[in-house]
Amino acid sequence: MSAAEDYRHQITSISYRNKAFINGKYVDAASGKTFDCISPIDGRVLTKVAACDKEDVDRAVKAGRAAFESGKWSNIAPRKRKKILQKFAALVEQHKDELALLETLDMGKPISESLNSDMGGVVNCMEWFAESVDKIYDELAPRRPDSVSMITREPLGIVAAVVPWNFPLMMAAWKYSPALAAGNAVILKPAEQSPLTALRIAELASEAGIPDGIFQVVPGFGETAGQALGMHMDVDMVAFTGSTEVGKYFLKYSGESNMKHISLECGGKSPNIIFADVHDLDYAAKEAAAGVFYNSGQVCTAATRLLIQQDVRDAFLEKVAKYSEAWAPGDPLDPKTLMGSMVDESQMSRVMSYIDVGQKEGAKVAVGGKQALSETGGFYVQPTVFEAVNNNMRIAQEEIFGPVLSTITFKDEAEAVEIANNSIYGLQANLWTRDVKKAHNVARALRAGTVNVNATDGGDITAPFGGYKQSGIGRDKSLHAFDKYTQLKHTYIHLR
Ligand code: NAP
Ligand code: MG
Repeated sequence: MSAAEDYRHQITSISYRNKAFINGKYVDAASGKTFDCISPIDGRVLTKVAACDKEDVDRAVKAGRAAFESGKWSNIAPRKRKKILQKFAALVEQHKDELALLETLDMGKPISESLNSDMGGVVNCMEWFAESVDKIYDELAPRRPDSVSMITREPLGIVAAVVPWNFPLMMAAWKYSPALAAGNAVILKPAEQSPLTALRIAELASEAGIPDGIFQVVPGFGETAGQALGMHMDVDMVAFTGSTEVGKYFLKYSGESNMKHISLECGGKSPNIIFADVHDLDYAAKEAAAGVFYNSGQVCTAATRLLIQQDVRDAFLEKVAKYSEAWAPGDPLDPKTLMGSMVDESQMSRVMSYIDVGQKEGAKVAVGGKQALSETGGFYVQPTVFEAVNNNMRIAQEEIFGPVLSTITFKDEAEAVEIANNSIYGLQANLWTRDVKKAHNVARALRAGTVNVNATDGGDITAPFGGYKQSGIGRDKSLHAFDKYTQLKHTYIHLR
């Protein structure tokens, strides 16, 4: 039996958690409504999932508030919270094969990615924040000797995490790991396209010893469950990852309700700048392709604008075209597949419509440009490279969120920086050069939360991640993540 056949066999006996997880139990939505959970691999309905709405969110917030106020999570010894979170991480690791398969079935990414990159990253993130719990100190302000001025961090209370479908469990883990570590109660709303892994780990949280009401999952749609969390008068914070458009709704929800804290990880249109003095043109071209086609281009940091210095343009494009072909979509259940499907039919249509727009704007398709594997019933797009793109075109300005690369030529350093920064986004930027002075100067001039030099992905749990401009507010990962899941209290004690 091939590995893909083996996975197909495993699917026949898989069981799906498809109810909301509220106050330690799986429950139906109050309305009894469900929605279809579709696999983009072949268009099949996997299961029907509880469609939560305002009433369910109310129930979860009530349970979360009671659990938070009881102190059985927020007010226990840090070492104890650490142990429970370590156990939670260990349980996720124990179930990583099952979780990886659920992730691949639910959103179509290759099984090797789900297993190694996604689940590996999730476990690492959970362990890292668990370990940090009893290693963070509070502060004393340098005041007169006859006073004590303490600055302490306190949890916020109820943190709602509203997350997208591109890395379903990983985007959730970046939020619930530090939020729980800081002592908050978390209510997670996974994207409607990919709720299965979030629902499965809810019971693992309970098994690890996280008290009822401290980790809850409310699947449902953005306009119902998502909005109810955003507008709730008793939710203290929303940690959001998703589009810039929806991120702005959360700012509005906050203003119209209780001024809850909002952190936003939103869209991107990352430039990847290739200077003519790059060390290794071939390696840079290989990475340029990987940087945009990984996860079918459904990555906020995807290096979708390739800026090539004119002297090396032809040679570089030829190599990028060659490496792009390796990313032809394949069966997501085959461990050798590099690129799987798009998350759903509407995302596939959106990408195809941008390919159309690019051609109408005058750009030329150099590679790909078509739908693929339609005989499977799934939703696949060829890796696509546009040449002759002008940075003012829509395909250079708007986030496509698919395997589409726009290539743009520049003449010198100043022009590269100007084009790179001409975007409403500022999540990440990459540059390739062997000149250390140029690397520093350009990195400094780029308006982005992350700059990679001679790489397209230097991210790690130890480094903060987030956006400039309309790519967001606040940072995930690293100890800086605690800034948003805690609030500072100043306590002054007069000793005279
Ligand atoms: P999205 O449409 O903005 O959705 C994100 C989440 O918000 C989903 O859970 C969604 O629920 C919910 N939502 C949608 N409309 C809502 C509304 N009116 N009120 C409240 N909640 C609402 O984004 P997506 O399509 O899932 O994900 C792709 C986007 O995420 C891209 O823009 C990408 O750049 C961004 N992203 C950013 C980062 C980062 O760290 N900067 C990382 C990954 C992805 P439903 O889907 O269930 O309706
Ligand atoms: Mg799905």
